[in-house]
Amino acid sequence: MLARRELFPHVLEMNYQSRQRLGCSVYVVFDGPDWMIIDIGYEDTAEEIVDLIRQMDFSLAHCKYLVATHADVDHIQGMKRLQELLPSAITVGHPDAKKLLESPDRIATYAEISAQGIAIDLPPIEIQQEINEGDVLKLGSLELEVWNTPGHTSGQLAFRLGRLLFSGDNIYRDGGVGNIDAHHGSNIEDFITSLERIRDADVDWLLPSHGPVFRKRPEMIQKTIDRLKGYLYLPDFGTCALGWPLLEEWDEELIRGFDPETAR
Ligand SMILES: [Zn+2]
Repeated sequence: MLARRELFPHVLEMNYQSRQRLGCSVYVVFDGPDWMIIDIGYEDTAEEIVDLIRQMDFSLAHCKYLVATHADVDHIQGMKRLQELLPSAITVGHPDAKKLLESPDRIATYAEISAQGIAIDLPPIEIQQEINEGDVLKLGSLELEVWNTPGHTSGQLAFRLGRLLFSGDNIYRDGGVGNIDAHHGSNIEDFITSLERIRDADVDWLLPSHGPVFRKRPEMIQKTIDRLKGYLYLPDFGTCALGWPLLEEWDEELIRGFDPETAR
């Protein structure tokens, strides 16, 4: 039997657990015999992950939930395989993720980024139960609050378990955030609101979908919020910005003509 390397009571993460790189963070939450998976990652590691879980003495029949934090291919490509391996579990996700995954939207899930030559297989995936803001996932005596934290994508979910927040692609340890991209359904104003919520939340630890688990520091999140506020009025994220006020001023400047003597 493999020893369980718990990050916190009731919480495992499979990259930490196996001491090998599996892709995105794959969290296992458990209480007594019952357990659940938050994001399985790519298909080619799904079977290995389930095998490791079995070796840690979990019964496959006691898996309650297969959670999709959102519909990105690097988080859920292995979900179909996971459903085959764990037929008694219920697949849960946001209604928007359900829509993107049932007849996969290859653009919004990042299965296809033609400009970068990326084309990844993505089988249709059925989200069997929609979950959204205010719902609670019960697992043994544990209760995971479901949060909808839009921004990276409208269907981004986070899960609060006591002082822990499984924070998805909202923010990473370096203050970076999940991709901001109009083709992905990103919304910078929503992102700011979600980050403010996380900043003010009564949680001590963030368990992100990429990279190490880290302590929540409001001043670090504030720095990220300030950066995103800047993006609202800059062209950096183009169609996700609200506007570029300087451009109008500059258009008038162009009309006035160019003088190297006075130019800045
Ligand atoms: Zn991600």
